[in-house]
Parts: sequence; structure tokens; C-alpha cells
Amino acid sequence: MIDSEPTRAGSPPAFHLLAKPTGAVCNLACQYCFFLSKEKLYPDSPFRMTDEMLEEYIRQYVEAQRVPEASIAWQGGEPTLMGLDFFRRSVELVEKHKRPKMTIQHTMQTNGTLLDDEWCEFFKEHNFLIGISIDGPAEMHNAYRVDKGGNPSFDRVMRGLEFLKKRKVDFNILCTVHAANGDYPLEVYRFFRDELEAEFVQFIAIVVRDNETGFQEGKTVTDRSVEPEQWGNFFIGVFDEWVRRDVGQTYVQFFDVALGNWVGAPPSLCVFSPTCGTALALEHNGDLYSCDHFVEPNYFLGNIAETHIMELVASDKQQKFGRDKLDTLPSYCQECDVLFACHGGCPKNRFVETPDGQPGLNYLCAGYKAFFHHIDQPMRIMADLLRQDRAPAEIMQILGAQEREAFATVGRNDPCPCGSGRKFKHCHGRAAPE
Ligand code: SF4
Ligand code: SF4
Repeated sequence: MIDSEPTRAGSPPAFHLLAKPTGAVCNLACQYCFFLSKEKLYPDSPFRMTDEMLEEYIRQYVEAQRVPEASIAWQGGEPTLMGLDFFRRSVELVEKHKRPKMTIQHTMQTNGTLLDDEWCEFFKEHNFLIGISIDGPAEMHNAYRVDKGGNPSFDRVMRGLEFLKKRKVDFNILCTVHAANGDYPLEVYRFFRDELEAEFVQFIAIVVRDNETGFQEGKTVTDRSVEPEQWGNFFIGVFDEWVRRDVGQTYVQFFDVALGNWVGAPPSLCVFSPTCGTALALEHNGDLYSCDHFVEPNYFLGNIAETHIMELVASDKQQKFGRDKLDTLPSYCQECDVLFACHGGCPKNRFVETPDGQPGLNYLCAGYKAFFHHIDQPMRIMADLLRQDRAPAEIMQILGAQEREAFATVGRNDPCPCGSGRKFKHCHGRAAPE
């Protein structure tokens, strides 16, 4: 293990790191999971982070964060397979190594199936923020989120969620959008808001390349992946509901990040930033990779038992990884009117060609473009409200008043003011059934 003073030169003052104490090992076998194939990277490994590595990681990571607040983020595979004592030790080690007055937030992304009262009591005691993976109501969730025997996982996840709620643990929902739920934005969103009473929701796209390696190679995607237009329509559906009744009550990560970009604040999510490279992934044995989406040999930076995390993050290889996001952006993106919000998206999905044949366009481009155009007007209003020190939630009254006026004056054959594209008489102007 390292005991010499690390070189700080070039290392950013803060960066994110997702640690995978069980590597890719999970008790479920979600059919779209890109991480399960990573088991092949470590043949014969027990896939358990040792206590020595746990301390080395926490010591180095805390040392590397030259800011007053940082987070220790656990992910998988399924991290709860490590057992509760592992995380008890991690909390103790954070207390041992953190600087006075430094605040460390503990976070964990879990499938929720193994949570019980003891876990949730521990989470509450140490203020863990728990991300729980749920893909919508039972039939949509169970479409792909199954265990190794092919059995649905929904009921077990709901049971875990009940323990989180009972102990009042802070949680957010991570929902992947894919072929089975992508056409049902309102059903999914309302389920989270009304039935699960979630206040924080995050959506991510399932875009999985169809190949044998499990790496980011090839240009075709699996049929479980979300379609670009479907992705855009999904967000449009959720946004239209959210912006009329939930602003300030329900937090949808994508919308918060987009509002930040409309305000002109520094982008808060790597995917929508000009460059990236400050969200790394640590395997169970101390191997550090450029990003959670690039745990593959070409993006291996080194092992933290041999080279300090700070030096690996500052390495030319990692710097280049982060800059490549910008340096390889096709001119189609550079000239795009929503570049300020999109920045080309995540490099993992930039594997299609632009209309004029340049490589490096995001597979989800059509969806992003449609969505960012759709939200432009309300985002401008919310950005103006923020600049006037007013609450973005006022948008709901503003839109309500605009729509009442528009509905009051619309002709039967005019386009419906709701934006559906249908005539008013066939949409909101339809006579109520007898
Ligand atoms: S590759 Fe994608 S997820 Fe990874 S750091 Fe870059 S933008 Fe973020
Ligand atoms: S919307 Fe499409 S063209 Fe515009 S920046 Fe994003 S990926 Fe590029």
C-alpha cells in the first residue's frame, strides 16, 4: 500500500467516484445490465473488496478531495451483498480519515431487494442517501428486472422500499428508460410520484451495444434499448406534467440540470458538460477506470494500491478522456442551437454518424433535440424567475394563466393550445361524453 506523499499537480480539487465493492456481482440478472459482463475482466476473483483495500480507498479518496464536502458512493453489481458490517467499517474509516469540519455524505445505489429493517436503521443513523432502482409499475419493472432464475423482482423491491420509508431514509428513484417502459412516461412518473411518494427521481437511458464483449463497441443496439425519439417523447411527457403541477415538489434530475444550463450555471452533470472525466469507477480490487461506463481494458488507469488516486485522476490518459468529449464533437453538434444544454451527451452513446457522415454523434440526438426545443419557453421563464430571486415554481401559475387565456380564445378548428398537434375540437375542445 502507498505511504509516500502523492503528487497533487493536475488533480482536480474534487471528483466523483463510484466504488464497486462486489465488482459486477449481483443477486439479480437484469436483462439489459451492461455491468454483468464485466465479471469476465476478473476471472477467478472472489469479487469482494478487502478491508485493506477499503481503508486504502477511503484514505486516498478523502485525501484527494480538497473541498469541505464530498461523498462516498457505493454501487455495483449489488453492494449490499457485502453485508452490513462492511459498510459499518466504511463509516468508521471515513470518521478516522476525514479532516476536521469535512462533511462526507454516504450514498449507495441498490436494487433494494436485500434491504431490511437493520440496513435501514443503519442508513438513517448515518444519513445515507439511497438510490433505489425501479423501472415503473410492476409489469414495466418486471419486463427486464429479474433474478438469475428469471423471476420478477418488483415485490422484493417494494418490500425494501417500505423499510426505507419506515425508517425515513432519504432515497431517490433511479429509473432506466428502455423499450418496455419508454412509451409510458405518465404511467411511470405518476407511479413514482403518487404511489411511491418519491420526491427525487432520476431517469437514465438504456442504450446497450449489441456485441459479445459487453464493451462500448459496435454501432447497433440491443432491442431492449430505448429508441432516440422514444427517449425524447418520454421526457416531454414527464416534463409537461411536472411543469404544470410539480415544480418545487418533485425533483427530476434531468430537469434541474437543464434549468442550470438555461440559467448559465456551470453544468452539474457530466453528461451535459462540455468535458467530463471527473466521474470515475473503482473496482473491488483497487483498479481505477475512467468512468463507470468504461470499465474496460482501454480505460484502465491503474491500481490505487500502486499509484495514488490523485495521480491517476491527474494522469494524461484521464485528462485526455475528459477532453475528448469536446475535442471529438462533430460540427453538427457545434452548430446545434441546443448545444449549451446538451453538449453532445455522454460519449458512451456517441457512436452514430451525423447527417453529413461525421462520426461521433449521440445515438439519442433526435430525442435530446426534440426535448430541449420543447422545454425552451418554460425553461426561459423559470430561468428569468431565478434571476429575479423568485421561485421557479411560479411557472405553474404563469403557464396556467397563459393556457386559460389560450383556451378561452381558441377556435374549434384551430390547433389545440395544449400542443398535441390535433385540432381543438378533436382534443381539449371535444364535447364531454353524454
Ligand atoms: S463518459 Fe459519460 S458518464 Fe462517463 S464521465 Fe463522461 S459524460 Fe459522464
Ligand atoms: S441535440 Fe444532437 S446535435 Fe445538438 S448537441 Fe445534442 S447530440 Fe449534438
